[in-house]
Amino acid sequence: MTKKRILITGAAGFLGSHLCDRFIAEGMHVIAMDNLITGDKRNIEHLFGREDFEYYHHDVSQFVHVKGELDYILHFASPASPIDYLRIPIQTLKVGSLGTHNLLGLAKAKNARILVASTSEVYGDPLVHPQSEDYWGNVNPVGPRGVYDEAKRFQEAITMAYHTYHGLETRIARIFNTYGPRMRLNDGRVLPAFIGQALRGEDLTVFGDGTQTRSFCFVDDLIDGIYRLLMSDYALPVNLGNPDEITINEFAEEIIRLTGTQQKIIHHPLPVDDPKQRQPDITLARKELNWSPKVQRKEGLAITYQYFSRLSKEDLYKDIEGKKF
Ligand code: UDP
Repeated sequence: MTKKRILITGAAGFLGSHLCDRFIAEGMHVIAMDNLITGDKRNIEHLFGREDFEYYHHDVSQFVHVKGELDYILHFASPASPIDYLRIPIQTLKVGSLGTHNLLGLAKAKNARILVASTSEVYGDPLVHPQSEDYWGNVNPVGPRGVYDEAKRFQEAITMAYHTYHGLETRIARIFNTYGPRMRLNDGRVLPAFIGQALRGEDLTVFGDGTQTRSFCFVDDLIDGIYRLLMSDYALPVNLGNPDEITINEFAEEIIRLTGTQQKIIHHPLPVDDPKQRQPDITLARKELNWSPKVQRKEGLAITYQYFSRLSKEDLYKDIEGKKF
């Protein structure tokens, strides 16, 4: 039997690399693409040399060419952390808009089903809590996060347009905060930031007063949600995340207990437009995908800490000055 063929963009990134593993495990042939602007080839190097895996260094904001047939496309290429949007705002806008357009065109040409990675950021600093898919959001288009949020909102709009106008099979995953092995230690996001600080013997930097909330989903759960959504016949956006909400102060305390660090919590200014609260309403994912997260934060954090504590000294100190806003 010939294997199903799937293109995964952003394949060397955190989620992309886990998706490569999952779809190979599902018996598919994976065509991986990344321009390594934020990804790291080491996340997928264990797959090099396999017959069912190909890797191409390519920026999908440029025309995307893939030889042969394609059954599925997963568009996961994008900078995904606030410090990255600030560093590379134009690329962030392009990959969410032009990149998505290129991949929709490719999906149409190949008659493939495409799933795009959207985000809880489409809800901005939400005025409704928890966020369900029918909330339209509260985004500042010209704030520092606007380049990501608006690109992802455009992505959803053009994906729906290809669905309704061209009849393309499309899926939209609104992904909430996710964590796990292969996050970039220096990407500035709260979990790698805190664990990195604990490992380097630095104080933990809570931004603002730390009363803002997030809800963290372990990567294995998220990947399973993506798989189920791709295999479903549901074309409207679906929230994927863990509703277990926590303040950033509580989260810092959990990391202190987990790592046993003697350091303390210090406060830095809250970045502009930092959402005050975030929790996914996953009623729709439960109903349509029969999906809900299984991994408790305690278990997920232990696995993640183990991964980070095995990194080299060089990785531990790489680019950490980039963390500051
Ligand atoms: N945050 C923090 N200290 C850090 C990094 C982040 O207190 O060193 C806060 C940040 O202000 C936000 C939350 O943690 O309120 C989550 O930030 P992250 O960048 O992980 O993702 P976001 O959900 O804001 O996109």
